[in-house]
Amino acid sequence: MKIAFFDTKNYDKPHFDIAAAAHGFEPVYYDTKLNVNTAELAKGCDAVCVFVNDDVSAPVIDKLCVYGVKLVALRCAGYNNVDVKYAYKKIHVVHVPAYSPYAVAEHAMALLLTSIRRIHKAYNRTRDFNFSLSGLAGFDLHGKTVGVVGTGRIGRVFIDICRGFGMKVIAYDKFPAEGSGIDYVSKEELFENSDIISFHCPLTDESFHMLNAETIGTLRKGVVIINTSRGALIDSEALLDGIKSRRIGAACLDVYEEESDIFFNDYSGHIINDDTLARLISMPNVIVTSHQAFLTEEALANIAETTANNIEEFFKNEICDNELCYQCGNIEHCKKSKAKKCF
Ligand code: NAD
Repeated sequence: MKIAFFDTKNYDKPHFDIAAAAHGFEPVYYDTKLNVNTAELAKGCDAVCVFVNDDVSAPVIDKLCVYGVKLVALRCAGYNNVDVKYAYKKIHVVHVPAYSPYAVAEHAMALLLTSIRRIHKAYNRTRDFNFSLSGLAGFDLHGKTVGVVGTGRIGRVFIDICRGFGMKVIAYDKFPAEGSGIDYVSKEELFENSDIISFHCPLTDESFHMLNAETIGTLRKGVVIINTSRGALIDSEALLDGIKSRRIGAACLDVYEEESDIFFNDYSGHIINDDTLARLISMPNVIVTSHQAFLTEEALANIAETTANNIEEFFKNEICDNELCYQCGNIEHCKKSKAKKCF
């Protein structure tokens, strides 16, 4: 089996080399992202392995089918970059539903602590032998209310971490987990009553721009926003306005709605054309990391192993528990039997 890897980074290869050898396939690594112009690189391959910013839209799926590719193996959990509905009955799609919810939840807390205790500013100051504390006053997390949007694998780990800090946790989920002991409220109540809001739900048509000019108007003054999920959950222009108007006290962003051409690359010697991102980064109360929440050794090893296992199961055993199935038209709650493929 030959697998074309798109958007490959140096930290991917060592783990995938090990997994490929163990599962008996040949990886072909490309730095470029998958899109309609690069799909031809997959000619002669059995599967493509893609990441969060590869384009697996309808025209790309059509091309992959023409080149005989049978499987799109996502090496991530989120699949908003794949037209799963269009892929149904054309090409199979598998993903890695969980690899380390701790990696992402811990990064969300790291961003929050960095932001509210001004660690990023203190680090720069002491490197310059500036030991002044002026402007570094933060606030206690203990006793504050955190609103968690999405109480799946990552959201729940984040809730546990927050409880460890003595915070009051409220949550909103489209499908609340019965008997979980989580204090669920409506989306509106969460927005109105949280000192800190952290997003852990997938990006869908419904959740697109969940935080927008209107909902930002309902937030507590000085609220801290954390987004480690997907950038387009937040309308970035509205976020910027909310920061300028002081409604939003701080923003911690690991994802950005227009990140696909920017994140994961070194543009330190270039002029960034995205004015909204540049303005956000210039704000003293905004911290941006480049979609790195997943990036721990444990997560990378799990991603490689699960992806390789998905590929092997699919081609050798004709089944795959991690297939994104559109059989019953509801990918989140598909009723298919795991004993066979989606189609
Ligand atoms: P999960 O599927 O375990 O949980 C998602 C939860 O969101 C579920 O409980 C679901 O019911 C809920 N949900 C679905 N639609 C919703 C809506 N419209 N409003 C509110 N809740 C909704 O997923 P997870 O493993 O916890 O991952 C959460 C998200 O984190 C992923 O969708 C992905 O986008 C993101 N992620 C980011 C990184 C990173 O490196 N920054 C890494 C992994 C995952």
